[in-house]
Amino acid sequence: MNHRFVFVDIDTQRDFIDPTGSLAIAGVEEIHPNLRRLTQFAREHGIPVIATSCAHQLDEEDPEPFPPHCLLGTPGHDRPEVTAWPGSQIVPLGKPPAFKNVPPHVTLHKKHYDLFTHPFASDLFHRYAASDPIFVVYGVATDYCVKAAVLGLCQRGYRCQVVVDAVRGIHQENETAVLQEFVDHGATLTLTDKVCQG
Ligand SMILES: [Zn+2]
Repeated sequence: MNHRFVFVDIDTQRDFIDPTGSLAIAGVEEIHPNLRRLTQFAREHGIPVIATSCAHQLDEEDPEPFPPHCLLGTPGHDRPEVTAWPGSQIVPLGKPPAFKNVPPHVTLHKKHYDLFTHPFASDLFHRYAASDPIFVVYGVATDYCVKAAVLGLCQRGYRCQVVVDAVRGIHQENETAVLQEFVDHGATLTLTDKVCQG
């Protein structure tokens, strides 16, 4: 397994990135080819992927102010083909990872923007960090969950790269400012081409 990189795929679920999804992000299909390339590259090069999934239930209040989306057990919660990973190890809400070694692909369920609100997320990333990898972040939305992930990784002192042509914001007009905030916190910006050159 290649531990120079760990890919962090934020919330690339149907409800966000499929044009028919309940909270589809405008223009998000433009990043589909890059999401596909990154996923394929991870598969071919044994790069571990930590994926996050928004996981809501209709009978529970969404702590974040958005209409119903990514409901557990519905197709909108799942990843579309571009980032799907059959056999991914799920880390359910509030539960510790049920595995010892680092699997090829993990899906961490979360209820809040910030993946680190999952009580075992810090521990999970700590396991992957043993080889001091670069955490390569992509997905959606740049100005919400990607932002929380990047700042959380930087705060923990991890090396973090953001793939600017494989993220998409809800408010695209703020993208430059958000990317600058990532840099100010110590992240570096990269491109799919660069990552996939090794
Ligand atoms: Zn959500």
